Amino acid sequence: MTKPETTTLNTQQQRLSALYEVSSRLSTTLDLSELLNLVMDATIQLTGAERGFLVLVDEASGRLLTVAARNMDQKTIAGDAMEISRGIVRQVVKMGDALLTDNAQKDERFAEHHSVISYQLRAIMCAPLRARGRIIGAAYVDNRLHSNVFAQEELDLLVAFASQAAMAIENARLFRQTDRALARRVEELTLFQRIDQELNRSLELRKVLELALDWAIQLTGADGGSVGLLESESEGAARTTQFLRVLAYRGANEDSEQKTVAVEHPVLAQVLARRQAIVTHGVDAEQTIDGSPASVQLAVPIKREDAVVGVITLEQQRSEAFSSEDIAFVERLADRATVAIENARLYEAVQAANDAKSEFVSLVTHELRIPLTSIRGYTDLLLKEMAGPLNDSQRQFLGTVRRNLDRMGVLIRDLSDINRIESGRMQFECEAFDLHEVVQNVAGDLREAVEERQQALGVELAESATIVYADRTRIAQIMSNLLSNANKYTPPGGAIDVRVFSADSMAAVEVADSGIGISEADQAQLFTQFFRGESNAVREQPGWGLGLSIVKKLVQAQGGEVTCSSQLGAGSTFSFTVPLAEGKGV
Ligand code: ADP
Repeated sequence: MTKPETTTLNTQQQRLSALYEVSSRLSTTLDLSELLNLVMDATIQLTGAERGFLVLVDEASGRLLTVAARNMDQKTIAGDAMEISRGIVRQVVKMGDALLTDNAQKDERFAEHHSVISYQLRAIMCAPLRARGRIIGAAYVDNRLHSNVFAQEELDLLVAFASQAAMAIENARLFRQTDRALARRVEELTLFQRIDQELNRSLELRKVLELALDWAIQLTGADGGSVGLLESESEGAARTTQFLRVLAYRGANEDSEQKTVAVEHPVLAQVLARRQAIVTHGVDAEQTIDGSPASVQLAVPIKREDAVVGVITLEQQRSEAFSSEDIAFVERLADRATVAIENARLYEAVQAANDAKSEFVSLVTHELRIPLTSIRGYTDLLLKEMAGPLNDSQRQFLGTVRRNLDRMGVLIRDLSDINRIESGRMQFECEAFDLHEVVQNVAGDLREAVEERQQALGVELAESATIVYADRTRIAQIMSNLLSNANKYTPPGGAIDVRVFSADSMAAVEVADSGIGISEADQAQLFTQFFRGESNAVREQPGWGLGLSIVKKLVQAQGGEVTCSSQLGAGSTFSFTVPLAEGKGV
């Protein structure tokens, strides 16, 4: 009596460990097709069945799809054409109860079934795959040749395994879904990143609009379209009219470019009132916003802080409407375009203000130069006593007038230079010349000022001629600025040393002084317009804080660099480089 009990116990233990073993394999993969194969093999292994298959309920259609099979004829199981025991599987999926027959041919529930007869089925088991309270499919196994091979124990095992397998399948399906959704999102974000980059690369309004339109057409498959922005025009004091101006257009209607559309236009009015995308079918030239007749027209508002500032219109000649995905895409594109449009508009406004400023400065400097030249001329005449002898006070006063005229002259020249550099109107007449010559000339010009402050000026030239390719006058101007700073900001008795040398393809000029030096904080602001040091030593010297900013622009425009190293109280060294003529192939 004890023997069979031990055997039963042993078999049960074996079954449980087999169940444990196959179930633990389920967690090794989240790949759905790999998992389904795993489940299929485990089902056959656990039940000792001859053949089997797995079906899953297709969520959209509700049909049963065979997703894995073993030892089945391929034709009978492909897709949803599964024929074997169709009724049995359907019943299990519908009712949710597992089913067992040890000999279908003798079981009155199934003996009449078409497949039981034609496939001569005997032992059959089928268990539902149930996950989160829903039946997602079924696991089916059978034996054709033998009856009585399945008993309640096998069915219990199959049911226990099926419930674990169902959870694993559901997880893998969810993973696949989120994985796909994530991939789609990443794809979309990458695309928008590209679009953003392109849109923001241009600050030209029309270009930005054309780019946005081209993207919208490309990604929705539209035949054409346009982008228009709202503008207002004042008519008299109290009345302003608003209209849409088409600024970018792709299509066959030549008149659409620059076309203006009244805000009363039926479709435009709807977009403005509802502030959302409007789809209109079968529109003629009058009814479309941009004048291109179409089977379907999509009009999407471009909004800034909830106010509509423009409209993207797309036309399609085929009658299929734009999909909701297309519309959502164009809406998101419109949001992105808003920022780029705003930037381009601001840039245009700044450009216009800048142009106006440039024009103004250019006019003023020109107008000031004429009287200044004449005042300077007459002052010089007076100083040379060509209009009669001067007494000491008169000479002193005229000397002050002359110095101030020079200061004004420098300011006018600097302002006009900055204006020309910034507006791109400064001309550089480059040629090959010896840098030594220019350095010596400028040093010579400043000798008087240097002597006046009892400074020692040393000039050390490179060993051989240093032929550079640059604008001679501009290089002289740079030199003169640096030297006159060294002169101004070095107390009497100090030293100024100029050194010319060359390295690689550049020539370099160094102007070192033993002057007041520049603090680290001030060094950070050097080369910016109107910056002047705060100290008395700086403020007692004439200047406008424009020289170094001009130096930097002139040096850079000719392909060089300017640098400064300095220590407060211990002098400064300014250096700049100029391309050698050799390197330029001159
Ligand atoms: P400006 O000399 O008319 O003030 P710059 O643009 O030439 O204008 O110089 C800006 C400021 O840089 C000066 O006001 C001064 O504070 C500092 N600076 C320039 N060169 C020197 C120098 N060689 N030594 C000390 N400070 C200098």
